[in-house]
Amino acid sequence: MTSRKSLISTFAVLLCLPFWASAADKKSKDAKADEASKPSYDLAQPATENLDLTMYQRIRDEGLSHSHVMDFASALMDGIGPRLTGSPNLKRANEWTRDQFAAMGCSNAHLEDWGEFGMGWRQLNTWVRMSAPDTAVFIAQALPWSASSHGPVNGRAVWVDAKDEKDLEKYKGKLAGKIVFFGEMREVKPVDKPLWERRDDANLKTTAEFPVHIAQQEDFFATFVKRLEFREKAGAFFAAEHAAGVVVPSRDGRNNGGSGGTIFDDSSGGMGWFIYQREHAQPLPIVVMAIESYGRVYRLLKASVPVSVEMDVETEFTGDHEHGFDTIAEIPGSDPRLKEEVVMVGGHLDSWASATGATDNGAGTVVAMEVMRILNALHVQPRRTIRVGLWTGEEQGEFGSYGYVKQHFGFVPLSTAPDQVKLPDFMRKPAGPLQLKPEQQKISGYFNLDNGTGKIRGVNLQENAAIGPIFQQWIAPLQDLGVSTLTMRNTGGTDHESFDAVGVPGFQFIQDALDYGSRTHHSNQDTYERLQPDDLAQAAVVEAIFVYNTAMRDQMLPRKPLPHPELEEQRKAALKNLMPGAEAAEEEAKKPGN
Ligand SMILES: [Zn+2]
Repeated sequence: MTSRKSLISTFAVLLCLPFWASAADKKSKDAKADEASKPSYDLAQPATENLDLTMYQRIRDEGLSHSHVMDFASALMDGIGPRLTGSPNLKRANEWTRDQFAAMGCSNAHLEDWGEFGMGWRQLNTWVRMSAPDTAVFIAQALPWSASSHGPVNGRAVWVDAKDEKDLEKYKGKLAGKIVFFGEMREVKPVDKPLWERRDDANLKTTAEFPVHIAQQEDFFATFVKRLEFREKAGAFFAAEHAAGVVVPSRDGRNNGGSGGTIFDDSSGGMGWFIYQREHAQPLPIVVMAIESYGRVYRLLKASVPVSVEMDVETEFTGDHEHGFDTIAEIPGSDPRLKEEVVMVGGHLDSWASATGATDNGAGTVVAMEVMRILNALHVQPRRTIRVGLWTGEEQGEFGSYGYVKQHFGFVPLSTAPDQVKLPDFMRKPAGPLQLKPEQQKISGYFNLDNGTGKIRGVNLQENAAIGPIFQQWIAPLQDLGVSTLTMRNTGGTDHESFDAVGVPGFQFIQDALDYGSRTHHSNQDTYERLQPDDLAQAAVVEAIFVYNTAMRDQMLPRKPLPHPELEEQRKAALKNLMPGAEAAEEEAKKPGN
C-alpha cells in the first residue's frame, strides 16, 4: 500500500515538476518584466550613492571662486527693479532671464503662459506729508494696485475705528474729502533682539525634530480671508463716501522689525485679496505708512487736534487682463535612456512693489541662474535633462508653478463647497482624485529656494522618508559649508508645493533666516544691500550639486505614495461603535417606546 501510494505520489510529483518549473520561471520573468515597466522611482533604491566628488569640487570651485551671482543680482534688482505680477517690470524680468539663460548656453530658453492674472500696475511716485498742525514728511508708499490720486490731494485726517461693517455706519456722511487713517495703532516695541540671525546648533537640532500635533489646527486662513473681505467692503464704503484717500499702518516684522523706516506692502495691509482683479479694484488711492508716521497722526487725532494730510499717489494701470509667464530653460540630457527624464530647479521671479524684491525672491532667482551658469561653465553632460523654472504670481497664490505643473504633470481638483469657492485657489481644500499626465512619470524632482538670502543649512524632506538616506550621503561632503540638517518637516508657502501636490518630489531648502522675517520679506528695505554674497554663492553650489546628483544617479528619486485627497474625509471620520455601553443613537431612536 505504501509502495503503491508512494508510486502514485512520486508520479504526481514528476508530473507536476515541469509545470512547477515553468510557473516559477514565468513568475520570475513576469516579475522582471514588471520591474522593467515600473518607473525607476518605484524600484528599490541602492544603499550607497555613487557620488562624483571630483564634480563636487569642480562645482565648488566654479561657484565659490568664480561666482557671478551678485552680477545677476545687481542686473535684476537695480537694472529691472520691483517685479509685481502683471507689471511691465516683471515682463522685462521674464524676457531678461530667458535671454540670460540662452546666453549662458542653455537650450530651449522660452516663456510659458500660465494664464490670465489680472491688472498690470506700477507705482511712479508717492509722497505723503502732514501740512497742519505742523509739517512733517512721512515714510509711505502706494499699496500695490492702488488707484492714482491724479495729482496731490489735501484733506483733514480722520481715524476710522471699524472692525466690521456695522462699525462703519457711524461714518456715513462724514468722510467726504477726508484722508482716512484706517487701522488701530499697534504697540511699537523696542528692537531688543537681533534682526539678523544665523541658525545655531540648538536651532538646527529643533528643526531636525518633527513636530507632532494631532489636534485639529486652527483655521488661520479663514480668519485672514474674513478680515480681507471686510477690508474690501470698507474700501468701497470710503469711496462711496467720497473720501480723498486711505492710509493704513504697516504691520510688524519678526523681533519687532516693522519699525525704523521699514514698511511692508503685502496683503496684510491690503484692502482685499483679489485687489489685482478689475472687478475687485479699489477706487481710492491707498498708501501703507511707517508705524512712527502713522502714530503721530493717530495720537493727534485721538487728542482731538485737527490734522491735515496731503498726498500724491502716482500710479499707472497697464492692462486689465495681463497674463503671467514662467521662464523656462534647459541643459539637455545626454543618456539615450534617461534624457527624456528631467530634474527641475527654480524659485519665483515676482516680488512686491515697494523695493526691488532682493531677498523675496530675487535671491532664489539669481541662485537658480547661477546654478545653470555653473553647470554650463563646467560643460556638464547630465544623463537627465536639467530644467530651470522661474515662476511668477507666487505672491498671489503660487499661480506660475501651479499653472506649469497643471500643464505638464497634473492637477488636483479643488473643493467646490460654498465656503471654499470664494477662497483664493491656494487656500482651497484639495478634493481629488489627482489627474496626472504622462510627464509626471518623467520628472525626478524639483528643488526650490525661497527663504531669503541666507545660506543653505539642509533640506526639508517634505515627509518623504525614502529620500533621507540618499540626501544624508549627498550632504556629507558639504558639512564644511554648513549643510548638516535634514528634517522630515513638511514646509509650505512656496512653489515646491505645486509639485508635491501631484506626487512629484519637491523640496525647499533650510536656510539661515538672517533678517528675512524681521525686515526684508515684502518690505521697502528688500534691496540689493540685504543680499549676502557669500551665502548666495554657497547656496548656488549646494543647489547645483543636488541638481547634478539627481541628473546623474541611475534611478529617479523615490516618491511618497500619491496623495488621495478624495479619501481624506473618510479617513478623518469618527470611528463607529467605539464606546462600550454607548447606545447607537439612530437605531435606539427607532425602537418603539423611545
Ligand atoms: Zn517668496
